[in-house]
Amino acid sequence: MTGPTEHVRSWYAATAHAAPRRAPLTGDLETDVCVIGGGFSGVAAALTLAERGRTVVLLEAQRIGWGASGRNGGQVLAGWSGEGEMVRQLGERGAEFLRRTKYRGHEIIEDRIAKYAIDCDYVNGAVTVSANLKQQEALAAEYESEASRGDAGHLTLVDKAGLRAHVATDVYMGGLIDRKAAHCHPLNLCLGEARAAEAQGVRIFEGAAVTRISDDGAPVVETAAGRVRARSVILAGNAYHKLEGRSLGGLMLPAQTFMIATESLGAEQARAILPDNLGVCDANWVLDYFRKTSDHRILFGGRCTYSNREIIDIEGSLLPRLKRILPQLDDVKVEFAWGGAIGIPLNRVPLIGKLRENVYYVQGYSGHGVNCSHIAGEILGDAIEAKMDGVDLFEAIRHFRIPAADIIGNPMLALGMTWFRMRDAAGI
Ligand SMILES: Cc1cc2nc3c(=O)[nH]c(=O)nc-3n(C[C@H](O)[C@H](O)[C@H](O)COP(=O)(O)OP(=O)(O)OC[C@H]3O[C@@H](n4cnc5c(N)ncnc54)[C@H](O)[C@@H]3O)c2cc1C
Repeated sequence: MTGPTEHVRSWYAATAHAAPRRAPLTGDLETDVCVIGGGFSGVAAALTLAERGRTVVLLEAQRIGWGASGRNGGQVLAGWSGEGEMVRQLGERGAEFLRRTKYRGHEIIEDRIAKYAIDCDYVNGAVTVSANLKQQEALAAEYESEASRGDAGHLTLVDKAGLRAHVATDVYMGGLIDRKAAHCHPLNLCLGEARAAEAQGVRIFEGAAVTRISDDGAPVVETAAGRVRARSVILAGNAYHKLEGRSLGGLMLPAQTFMIATESLGAEQARAILPDNLGVCDANWVLDYFRKTSDHRILFGGRCTYSNREIIDIEGSLLPRLKRILPQLDDVKVEFAWGGAIGIPLNRVPLIGKLRENVYYVQGYSGHGVNCSHIAGEILGDAIEAKMDGVDLFEAIRHFRIPAADIIGNPMLALGMTWFRMRDAAGI
């Protein structure tokens, strides 16, 4: 039998803390909750439930943090994807939820870092930068709206000249600095949270791909060599799973997105580019984002192949974009290039819900999942304790289901995204 696939070659994997290799599942187990997927969603849910006294088994097909959670930009941004749609469909109920949870993921992450001594380079401070006047006006409106509620103490609106003191570039119109947002080493965060979950009694298995969720009066989660009988199941395989196709098929499409890490620039040059170590993210629909690492590299992410094809030349695709923003890096070398899969519902609102009695799922953060996955862990932990408010709210959202999504879904998404890219380019 072949073992699990190792973490993708990335700067994160190269700088990850040592983690135990967990065995695959063999034989039969019983537990209160079985979690499928060892990314942020699965690990956060498992830790939440273990902290509340539940017995938990977590099954990960590869290694903990192998999926998007161990590969992403590490930008811990505020709020959810699809916020406009949530408010459009749910009105004040949606708006109230968004206000209440805007930084809930940050609180959970920061509490866990402190409580379990997780070393993951977590730094507060990020800026959303505007690529055109319309985006700058939208950032100003966001600032005004927060200020009108007396809740803008952590926000600073800057114009082009003001931004220069924080990011050494001339390509943006300005930005909105958010001192509650953050960035971190996501693989080390996920590995640290898994270690904490184990310390709370969670049994974790790696190389344990779930093949089916069956039922013998209670849900039974099956792998090639074992079975877990559970009172409740959480399916958190995100863009990497194909389980429960009848209920979930066509609701979300997988897309590939990419990152590069430069060579180390040295402390001085890295500080000159990002003097107060902000994470930077533009306000485009198909966005570029970058930040400094603890060893003074620039980590730059962007591009999505909505056809779900991997780009062969990731460096060739991303480096020119980085150099356009930071021309002072004209001769910089790239040392790591990698990609990963994200899940995108067509209306971009994450999918959180109940598949059937005692079986729940979460997926589809549309590339905005570091903070939200932690909130989802709490929402699903609540659902298992029969507190259904969060799940009910997400289930009230209407989603499009693409028929025959495996065949026509990604071309459709690619077409839609070309439209949004054109809008970004035209500044409308
Ligand atoms: C390159 C990139 C950059 C990104 N940048 C950011 C960013 O800067 N900020 C941000 O907020 N978000 C970002 N994202 C998105 C973010 O990483 C995801 O939204 C988040 O990590 C999703 O977590 P998850 O646990 O739901 O899924 P994943 O981390 O993908 O985990 C799913 C896990 O389930 C496992 N699995 C799947 N099927 C099975 C099965 N049948 N049995 C057992 N296990 C299974 C997989 O092996 C995987 O480990 C980025 C994503 C990528 C790829």
